[in-house]
Parts: sequence; C-alpha cells; structure tokens
Amino acid sequence: MVRDPLTGVPGDFVLIMRDITERKRLEEQLRSLAMTDGLTGLGNRRAFDETLDREWRRTVGSAGQMSLLLLDIDRFKGFNDKYGHQVGDDCLRAVAAAIRDVLDRPGDLASRYGGEELAVILPDTDSEGALEIAERLRLSIENLGLPHDGNLEGGGRVTVSIGSATALSRSGGTIRMPEGLLLAADTALYKAKHKGRNRVEVALLLASEGPDAA
Ligand code: GH3
Ligand code: MG
Ligand code: MG
Repeated sequence: MVRDPLTGVPGDFVLIMRDITERKRLEEQLRSLAMTDGLTGLGNRRAFDETLDREWRRTVGSAGQMSLLLLDIDRFKGFNDKYGHQVGDDCLRAVAAAIRDVLDRPGDLASRYGGEELAVILPDTDSEGALEIAERLRLSIENLGLPHDGNLEGGGRVTVSIGSATALSRSGGTIRMPEGLLLAADTALYKAKHKGRNRVEVALLLASEGPDAA
C-alpha cells in the first residue's frame, strides 16, 4: 500500500512479484555442489559428517539402529604406481559407480570419506542387513574385473575391504556416538585388511549412552 507522501492518506496498492524460481534452483545447485565430491560424484566429507550426525539423532529419537560401512581399495598405492594416477582416478570413479548401482534405498548415503576410502551410511539398518549390503558391494566391485596385478589376494583384480558397524540406541552404554560407530567400522576395516583383504568384517554391536547421547 502506498501513502500520499504529503497527506499520509492511503492510496494505490503496489504489488511486487519477482520470479524466485530461478534463484531457488541456483541455491539448490550450489548446495548440492558443496556436498558433492568432484572426482566420484558421491557425497563429500561434509555430506558424510552432516548425514552421520543427523541419522544418529534420528536413530536415538526412534530408539532404532543404523549401520556404517567403510570401504578401502586394496593395495591402491601399488595400483597407482603401476598404472598411473589417472587410471587410479578412473578406478575410483568406477568403484563409486558400482556402489551407487548397488544401493537402492533413498536414505542411504555413499560418500568419499578420504582419498580412496569410501563410506556408506545405512539408516534403519541392522547388522545382518548391513552385512548383506557390504557383501553385495564387495562382490560387485570384484566383478568389475578391473585388472590389478599387484593385488594377489584379490586374484589380480581391483577389490575392496569393508568394515561394517551397527549402532543401537539403548540406554546403559558408555560409548560416545556417532564417533564410536566410526571407530568400530574402522577397526573392522583394519581387521578385514589384516585377515587378507577383499572381505567384509563386522564390528561388535554398540550401545549408545541413551536418549541424551546425540
Ligand atoms: P591397503 O590394501 O592396505 O589399503 O593398501 P593401500 O596401498 O591401498 O594403502 P592405503 O589405503 O593406505 O593407500 C592409499 C593410497 O591410495 C595412497 C594413494 O596412492 C592412493 N590414493 C588416495 N587417494 C587417491 C586419489 O584420489 N586418486 C588416486 N589415483 N589415488 C589415490
Ligand atoms: Mg586407505
Ligand atoms: Mg587402500
């Protein structure tokens, strides 16, 4: 509403319409870019951190459980040394695509946790479900059949080792979450490497500090 500047008497109405659709679209695009890993197209570390935190809060709120998988490419340093860094990058992209193909629930998040370490957050997923998905991931990466001469344990193909951990929201536990979940998955991954690579290892079920632990 516009008032007459001298008398202050209300006059015409002015309607301002702006097309915000384009701005919203750009904002969405920026947000998505800020959460995406440039090499693989998976989530980046920020997406991982935010999702892990959010999903853990949800798990506590619903007194449910969630799982985390950590994947690490076997003998990848040797792969780069032999085939070159570019081929190494291509390999990472192919592994990422295989992971995307296996995951089918919209809530699952695959991200690049570090250099050649990838993480999958599985909301509302128990230990058995996580193990099943981990095994499917392991197999589909092996079945890509990418040559890796130096990876004898993997039959001369590119393979991954996977650590799986599941956290339950229960009172009485003493382990801090979600850091404890990450630590457990990492420990399981280390065990998988130690036992001979190209395999999945599962960490013990963990209990949180209860509903207050977020
Ligand atoms: P392990 O089976 O124990 O995992 O052996 P590894 O050689 O894979 O050991 P590690 O996981 O510590 O190796 C990490 C190597 O991965 C270091 C580096 O050569 C390679 N790498 C990390 N990030 C990238 C990347 O973005 N691109 C390429 N091409 N290579 C990467
Ligand atoms: Mg590594
Ligand atoms: Mg590795």
